[in-house]
Amino acid sequence: MQYFSTNHQSPEVDFRQATINGQAPDMGLYFPERIPAVPKELIGNITQYSNEEIAYQVMQPYVGNAIPEAELRRIVNETINFDIPLVKVTDDIFSLELYHGPTLAFKDVGARFMSRCLGYFVKGQAQKVTVLVATSGDTGGAVANGFYDVDGIEVVILYPSGKVSTVQEKQLTTLGKNIHALEVAGTFDDCQQMVKQAFTDEELNKKLMLTSANSINVARWLPQQLYYFFAYKLWADKKNPPVIAVPSGNFGNICAGILAHISGLPVKHFIAACNANDVVPAFMVTEKYEPKKAVTTISNAMDVGNPSNFIRILEIFHHRFKDLQHVLSSCSISDDETKAVLQSVYQNNHYLPDPHGAVGFGALQDYLKDHPNQKGIVLETAHPVKFYDVVEPIIGEPVPIPEAIRQQLQMEKKSIQIAAEGDLLKAFLLGLTSGT
Ligand SMILES: *Cc1c(COP(=O)(O)O)cnc(C)c1O
Repeated sequence: MQYFSTNHQSPEVDFRQATINGQAPDMGLYFPERIPAVPKELIGNITQYSNEEIAYQVMQPYVGNAIPEAELRRIVNETINFDIPLVKVTDDIFSLELYHGPTLAFKDVGARFMSRCLGYFVKGQAQKVTVLVATSGDTGGAVANGFYDVDGIEVVILYPSGKVSTVQEKQLTTLGKNIHALEVAGTFDDCQQMVKQAFTDEELNKKLMLTSANSINVARWLPQQLYYFFAYKLWADKKNPPVIAVPSGNFGNICAGILAHISGLPVKHFIAACNANDVVPAFMVTEKYEPKKAVTTISNAMDVGNPSNFIRILEIFHHRFKDLQHVLSSCSISDDETKAVLQSVYQNNHYLPDPHGAVGFGALQDYLKDHPNQKGIVLETAHPVKFYDVVEPIIGEPVPIPEAIRQQLQMEKKSIQIAAEGDLLKAFLLGLTSGT
């Protein structure tokens, strides 16, 4: 499988090179040259297949010859070695809990897959790869955990001091070894700016093999298809496929679901559930894509004003708006609505969503009101405990803390505090390679 850049100014590359590059040199996103069809027999008899076998069959065409079969089977097995249950919330709404991985958010799936692919690609190579990533919260923990102790890879994570949740900060800063957490005196935008500067610095790129682990990397994006297949396997009424609501920020997750659907997975309709950051909901009405500055909400992992992966969704539909409209709806849910939905789902249905999931529940409830014969799934993208500071005041009681998180909260934070200056990051990175 070859990947082209959505800007069409860079050469096509295979899966290995696309993973190592992250973004294409012309600043476009890599996209597969064709969308492979999933075997009909797999879809028709999906309940008879193990998740491991489904995962291998879905990923193999995208990886092509870049990774041999036995190695790819090991990688997908390790990627999905935690529960992904489909929980009934009401007669019409089910929750696909994507938060049973090590850092309690769906980003574990992409990060685990990417780290293992990259680990395979650098094996036997003399030069270390340095993964550089800026995080507003969930990405950092998933990347840190996924790459922890992987040979040949150093990981440098920049996060804005005082602006990530307590659980998120501990997930970034307590691992040590090859994981370096830089606590930046600034905002997420500052962190991202510093990272961008490093990627375009000639001296750094000569001395280091730098790559990014953010969500535009194909090795993080593509494995997110897998749990859509697992959800369908668990869906009882195969004749009436589900409507799927996806809490969306950078649109990687929902884009992977749509890709799975185009390759043969039955889904009735997709809903991109957004918070007040409503660039895509507005686009679905006006057909005009107008990026904005992100506004802060209680579902902060979706505070994105210019969703990178939306271009890939347009690419899937060959930029034909009518075709897109047929498959995708989008809506914006305010913080007040999110709080009301979170509380009502907890009180009336005895199910506790996190703030991101609550946006999904709100969007799906609204959709089903207009489509009374349909049923749907909300992707629960994070465990409510990750956002206990938001959830507890809404429900007026404490969120039970899982044992693994309780232990992590007691571990000592180890971060390197730096000012928001690109030159300081450069000096740190050069120090890493010289072994100091
Ligand atoms: C990252 C994240 C999202 C948004 O996912 P995208 O793929 O960027 O659309 C939603 N919910 C949670 C909890 C997240 O961490």
